[in-house]
Amino acid sequence: ATFDQMKFPKAVIKALEKKNIVKPSPIQAQGIPAVLSGRDIIGIAFTGSGKTLVFVLPLIMFCLEQEKMMSFIYGEGPYGLIICPSRELAKQTHEIIEYFLSQLKGHHFPVIRCCLAIGGTSMSETAESIRRGVHILVATPGRLMDMLDKKIVKLDICRYLCMDEADRMIDMGFEEDIRTIFSYFKGQRQTLLFSATMPKKIQNFARSALVKPITINV
Ligand code: AMP
Repeated sequence: ATFDQMKFPKAVIKALEKKNIVKPSPIQAQGIPAVLSGRDIIGIAFTGSGKTLVFVLPLIMFCLEQEKMMSFIYGEGPYGLIICPSRELAKQTHEIIEYFLSQLKGHHFPVIRCCLAIGGTSMSETAESIRRGVHILVATPGRLMDMLDKKIVKLDICRYLCMDEADRMIDMGFEEDIRTIFSYFKGQRQTLLFSATMPKKIQNFARSALVKPITINV
């Protein structure tokens, strides 16, 4: 499979090429079509596998589709949520999304907004961005819990959840928090779980959080 066959817009293909990404890695070749088809997936993959684009590119496509159908009700977002174990990983993921969004500018695409919600940053600034309308939120569990509790973030219209490095999040003791985060979702959601390892604990967690997932192990 090529990125072209995955039906990404030219601007996305160009953006990938600028980063010397021309051929999908194995996890991308299997994972991207599965995510685009709407299935829940478990991706067993390390950093360096190219896993980030498996959840980032389809999410951007879903947001573009959503925005074409109806303009986002400001303050009701996000549509997609990405949870990361560390501030560093959240920042990197946010940066990658911002890169692709910047590459879509000026190509007659609807404007998609992404926001970072992590500890050590101003919560009032994050709150202001969310209030103005945000499609994608990249967050660490602690800060997200805090913002959900304060009703700064709502997940009522959130339909896409990705947990990156889930094994690390569980090891860090975030399982309870993540389950609480699930409870804020209202409608049906597509759930993606990425993990470098798959011990029993993560398998059980995945079984309770995902619906008929496709497992991708590369
Ligand atoms: P990740 O595993 O998502 O953290 O990606 C690791 C690195 O691989 C990043 O620097 C990406 O830019 C790069 N990368 C991702 N997908 C590809 C690809 N298909 N071909 C070449 N490099 C890639």
